[in-house]
Amino acid sequence: MEELVCSACGKRLGLGELAWRCECGGVLDLAFTGRLDAASLAGRAGSLWRYREALPVRRGDYIVTLGEGMTPLIQIAWDGARPLLKLEHQNPTGSFKDRGAAVLITVAKGLGVRAVVEDSSGNAGSAIAAYAAAAGMTCRILVPAYASEVKLIQVRAYGAAVQRIEGSREEVAAAAQAACAAAGAAYYASHYWNPLFFEGTKTFAFEVWEQLGRRVPEAVVVPTGHGTLLLGAHKGFGELRAQGLVNRLPRLIAVQSAACAPLYEVVQRGLPELPPLPPPDTFAEGIAIRTPIRWRQMVRAIAESGGEVARVPDAAVQAALLKAARLGILMEPTAATALAGYSQLLETGRLARDTEVVIPITGSGLKAPDKIASLLSSRPANIPR
Ligand SMILES: *Cc1c(COP(=O)(O)O)cnc(C)c1O
Ligand SMILES: [Zn+2]
Repeated sequence: MEELVCSACGKRLGLGELAWRCECGGVLDLAFTGRLDAASLAGRAGSLWRYREALPVRRGDYIVTLGEGMTPLIQIAWDGARPLLKLEHQNPTGSFKDRGAAVLITVAKGLGVRAVVEDSSGNAGSAIAAYAAAAGMTCRILVPAYASEVKLIQVRAYGAAVQRIEGSREEVAAAAQAACAAAGAAYYASHYWNPLFFEGTKTFAFEVWEQLGRRVPEAVVVPTGHGTLLLGAHKGFGELRAQGLVNRLPRLIAVQSAACAPLYEVVQRGLPELPPLPPPDTFAEGIAIRTPIRWRQMVRAIAESGGEVARVPDAAVQAALLKAARLGILMEPTAATALAGYSQLLETGRLARDTEVVIPITGSGLKAPDKIASLLSSRPANIPR
């Protein structure tokens, strides 16, 4: 049985204890290193389960799947460069969060879990709700009282109960954690506390490696709030390196919204701790996270890979969204921060035009018809027709 290990004090707990945090308050990681079976990949299904030996599932476990993973990698023309886009919005619920949810829910089912709770008014809530439905579990998603009803339609359709909580995102998280505290209560299927989620998102790296002909790109540009994709990518590329399948990591470049960029303050400005920030108001709401609990891990991942953090204003994100749409790729606002960040990095010379870069398109534009509609009707001056 795999163990959970506290990143702060080193305490170990059985995975079956269903803990989501150490007694000391520390974030838990999974003590598990699988081995990607590179020799057996040919002929396997085009889903992330082709890497099952590298995932914390046991032989005979029931795999909860909706066909997630193996998303296309395509090349586009952008600002005089030719970046590769990984179309994560083509996952079953419309975002990369399906990677984390599929693995988390599969392992939870194997542990006998029958009810899960998550706090997210966005893509993580939809993904957990969908995979809980596929697994026959009950699911409750806690959201801020102000969350827009449009974003909850998907969660409700999957049959999850939605509970609105007064207060900030942090207070919503506290309510979810309280709901999971009692013995025999629901399991906390948190996309940022639960390390099983990152076991799923690491398959992003395996796929990029495979799709590039078993090598890694020079850089990956990732929209970042809690860091579920950034840290998953770091873990996946790190495992490939540990297995000797590649000899380096790509540079991991995190992109944040200028309206909420705590990681930028720590990495680029050298602050020793996360700064206190006002409640964010940004077009890229999906990554507006003021207190990402795994920030120390993100700082290490970025430093180890020789990466950096960029921050982009809403106007640049809006322009990138419409520009990509004119190339036939419709993404949600949060996803467009990556392309806006890429443009900025090219413009300021921090990335060369001939550097091989992979950019995930993290979420579908079909998730945000209201925001895209208002963009179309306002048509800011810097957006071409
Ligand atoms: C979750 C999400 C991200 C990344 O967010 P993290 O908080 O860093 O995990 C980026 N884009 C979209 C569309 C997302 O749903
Ligand atoms: Zn601890």
